[in-house]
Amino acid sequence: MSGINSEDIADFIDELRELRQVLTPQKPDPDEYTDLLNRALEKWGFGSQALIWIEELSELIKVIAKRDRVVNPSFESQLLEELADVDICLDQMKILFPEYQEYKIRKVNRLRRLVYHG
Ligand SMILES: [Mg+2]
Repeated sequence: MSGINSEDIADFIDELRELRQVLTPQKPDPDEYTDLLNRALEKWGFGSQALIWIEELSELIKVIAKRDRVVNPSFESQLLEELADVDICLDQMKILFPEYQEYKIRKVNRLRRLVYHG
């Protein structure tokens, strides 16, 4: 009669560790991520992607707008979901319009003046 030995248990634990590695969301490689966003733009075009941006931004707006309407136990998970979608859209926009950085610097400096000296 064969039983479970310590080697079987060790193998099983190794398999569980590998499975956890596969199932755990991994932060994308920056170069691969940029390439992915560029390929999406090439595949579906600016017009299509712009519609996606509008859709995703409006979904985030809707979640935020409804935050206090009723007791909403799923608010945080909905917010996180839509924030992730919008973050991807913003990353795609930043690739297309890298000069936004100059505007961002000016706006952060303005905010800094208002917060610390306003
Ligand atoms: Mg969404």
